Amino acid sequence: MTENSEFPIVHLISAPENPLKTIYLACRTCYSAEYPYKIREKDTDPEKMLKLVKKVLQSGHHSTIEHCQYTFTISGVTRACTHQLVRHRHMSFSQKSQRYVTEKGQFEYITPSTVKNSGLQQQYDALMAEIAGFYDRMIEQGIPAEDARFVLPNAATSSLVTSLNLREMIHLANLRLCVNAQHEIRKLIQKMCGLVVEKEPWLGEYLVAKCEKSRYCDEIRGCGKFPQQVK
Ligand SMILES: Cc1cc2nc3c(=O)[nH]c(=O)nc-3n(C[C@H](O)[C@H](O)[C@H](O)COP(=O)(O)OP(=O)(O)OC[C@H]3O[C@@H](n4cnc5c(N)ncnc54)[C@H](O)[C@@H]3O)c2cc1C
Repeated sequence: MTENSEFPIVHLISAPENPLKTIYLACRTCYSAEYPYKIREKDTDPEKMLKLVKKVLQSGHHSTIEHCQYTFTISGVTRACTHQLVRHRHMSFSQKSQRYVTEKGQFEYITPSTVKNSGLQQQYDALMAEIAGFYDRMIEQGIPAEDARFVLPNAATSSLVTSLNLREMIHLANLRLCVNAQHEIRKLIQKMCGLVVEKEPWLGEYLVAKCEKSRYCDEIRGCGKFPQQVK
């Protein structure tokens, strides 16, 4: 399977009902003598809430956004990509097991467009078919899936359910939307952020690459969009 716009397949399956109000409540609770549930009962103007929330976020009081949790389903994503994703320690994961799920026939895999455009696609596909054949042979001979999987490549796709709070989501975006992040994880995070921003447009200014906030680049090799900061 060649990289295409459909992959990875991402769905936002759970999101807070009113994240702005939840964050506003968290902020106000810190600075108010009132009981939080009383603050919550008040019908507050969204503009007023947004003003306070932006101010508090600007000040770095980021625990207030940890109360908002998002859950996504992800499929059609390579093991190369999920290996990078699971490095994020404040995310929760449930990933398709290569121990308990035995691949049958040709496993699903991704062909990067660079391979496709290089003219090596045929050889690439032949190698995947050979791996699948050998994997099948091992399974037939009674080798457990947990050992047969040793031959599966990074290109093999996976599926997962992942949850994270808004603080981690922003961190993830800041790191992985940078053009220096690997293209597949960048595409994945773009899709995840896009789904959140669709629901909460005000979050758009936070779910960006780190340089969009700082207005400078701290990467060794920048893309030129913002001036490089010499460390
Ligand atoms: C462009 C790019 C290239 C990369 N290349 C490589 C590479 O070549 N090799 C490699 O191994 N990894 C690489 N990584 C992965 C990177 O080193 C991080 O493991 C990954 O991005 C997770 O980031 P994080 O630790 O900031 O975030 P998270 O794990 O999501 O944590 C969020 C934040 O929580 C805090 N935190 C979490 N855990 C701890 C802790 N134990 N102690 C103190 N503070 C903590 C930190 O402030 C951290 O930034 C790369 C990442 C990027 C974006």
